[in-house]
Amino acid sequence: MTFRATVLTLYPEMFPGPLGVSLAGRARDEGKWALDCVQIRDFAIDKHKTVDDTPAGGGAGMVLRVDVLAAAIDHARAANPAAPVIAMTPRGTPLTQARVRALAAGPGVIVLCGRFEGFDERVFAGRGVEEVSVGDIVLSGGEPAAIMLLDACIRLLPGVMGAASSGTEESFENGLLEYPHYTRPAEWEGRTIPEVLRSGDHAKIAAWRKSQSEIDTRSRRPDLWEPYEGARVQPASGARRKKKDMDQ
Ligand code: SAH
Repeated sequence: MTFRATVLTLYPEMFPGPLGVSLAGRARDEGKWALDCVQIRDFAIDKHKTVDDTPAGGGAGMVLRVDVLAAAIDHARAANPAAPVIAMTPRGTPLTQARVRALAAGPGVIVLCGRFEGFDERVFAGRGVEEVSVGDIVLSGGEPAAIMLLDACIRLLPGVMGAASSGTEESFENGLLEYPHYTRPAEWEGRTIPEVLRSGDHAKIAAWRKSQSEIDTRSRRPDLWEPYEGARVQPASGARRKKKDMDQ
């Protein structure tokens, strides 16, 4: 099954962009995923091809019109009917590796890229659109966010990554940041590689990596560490509860 990405944008010339080279580009050449770009302006209803209008209530900037967006979404859905529709917006749910993994396991995705002040709010409920953010930053348009989302999905498609295991050991896959990496030279400007990594003792290396993962997650990402630690404690108490139930 080919993962089908449909991108709704005012700047189709931005695609495939970075998705046309390296891993993603090769995978596309091999038919592992397909890309269609839809020009939102083609769905404008007036002769001037207007896609935006001034914000209701006043204020700076322009807002993408709901009728134009809905027509573009309906067109994209007809060609990619099983794919979820995702709008890129800083107001959306922060994107996670878990959501990326779920998307990559599906038929594809229809991605709506905003510009100006963003979308008329009514399009989300009116067309069942999921709102997704790529971080607490504001971009000038949804296109780089769409490229991020698609890149993250594409590398997980079957046969795209060289070593299958490189997908599962990575940051976020087990709720932690990945451990740090090193390679030759063994010494660089007086800085050495941790001795354990040169020991050849695989069990010791695995233990070191796990502990580094935990140390770094704890200090760099308390937001990840808290749920990870919580989940680690939870099964143990769950098991205890079960045993107690059995004892009774
Ligand atoms: N007025 C909006 C920002 C608009 S930025 C606000 O304050 O929430 C213009 C477009 O860039 C958005 O419609 C969206 O498609 C895209 N964009 C900007 N930042 C983004 C982010 N962090 N994640 C996803 N898309 C983003």
